[in-house]
Amino acid sequence: MFNVDNITRKNIFSLIPYSSAREEFKGEASVWLDANENPFETDVNRYPDPYQTELKKALSRIKNVDENQIFIGNGSDEAIDLLFRAFCEPGQDKSYIFPPTYGMYEVSANINNVETVRVNLTADFQLPDSKEIIKAIDSKGLLFICSPNNPTGNIYSLDAIKEIAAIFSGLVVVDEAYIDFSNTTSAISLLNEVPNLVVLQTMSKAYGLAGLRLGMAFASKQIIDVINKIKPPYNVNTLSQVGGLKVLKGITKVINQINKLKIERTTLIQSLSSISSVIKIYPSEANFLLVEFEDSDKIFTTLRLKGIIIRNRTSEIKNCLRITVGTPEQNKVLINAIKEI
Ligand SMILES: *Cc1c(COP(=O)(O)O)cnc(C)c1O
Repeated sequence: MFNVDNITRKNIFSLIPYSSAREEFKGEASVWLDANENPFETDVNRYPDPYQTELKKALSRIKNVDENQIFIGNGSDEAIDLLFRAFCEPGQDKSYIFPPTYGMYEVSANINNVETVRVNLTADFQLPDSKEIIKAIDSKGLLFICSPNNPTGNIYSLDAIKEIAAIFSGLVVVDEAYIDFSNTTSAISLLNEVPNLVVLQTMSKAYGLAGLRLGMAFASKQIIDVINKIKPPYNVNTLSQVGGLKVLKGITKVINQINKLKIERTTLIQSLSSISSVIKIYPSEANFLLVEFEDSDKIFTTLRLKGIIIRNRTSEIKNCLRITVGTPEQNKVLINAIKEI
């Protein structure tokens, strides 16, 4: 049986967390002299809510998950780092990834002195055979599945995620940064039946709030409690909490933009497929396309000279560029520039 206590680092398990002023007294009051703040009131003279109560209430409704199963961080990159710090004993536990994928998992592992085991995706970017995964796993720790995957754009089935979670004794972290652009159900729906699952999402992509740094982790209450115990007390600032709440209250605007971008993704695929230097456009359930060119370096460099910046992925996937879906106008500029080359 999976037990969170057994995978929590011993020093974290026995840690007595810092207790902030805002934590020791919640509730209503008229005179706040407990936190050495500047008493002259502005929007930001007070410390923020350490647990982002309002934001979690709104998220709970939208994502259909209990408030106590939500962690909000300073970007999902903070959640990734905290997961390493809570659940990976440096030099002992390991991190498992399926490249080519998001680079931050390995960087965060390196920062935390945790070894990364790489099991490559298949040639068409599917998850490796479960036999191969079982063979590679020789410790607990964290196993990352990015779905839709960055930079390949494809999604993995919930059944595949369940199967992998069943063979791993550590935490399976499903990074759904791009799930809003996909028609597939979120792995959040598996939380009740898969105890060692953490689902990451972010407000940096579809929600249009990359500058605010708001990332989310969804998991069992037991896992969330451990992350909360070690997080910096005021990890999400007041302006971000207010800005995030505002966007969640007007979520239809976000949904409209997502629908436009999905249409624009299709248009961009059509435009690119009529260009002779384009070899292959990989199917994408995200707001970007992975595109193979005859000579990706030439396209990348020439576009850059014209002030158009895309991402060169040729070091991981030969001759491939990752192109974010922009506005109709931006995409036209891009397509015309590629045609000129
Ligand atoms: C962009 C991205 C994120 C977002 O990270 P934030 O810190 O929330 O901005 C997370 N995972 C993947 C795979 C991404 O591409």
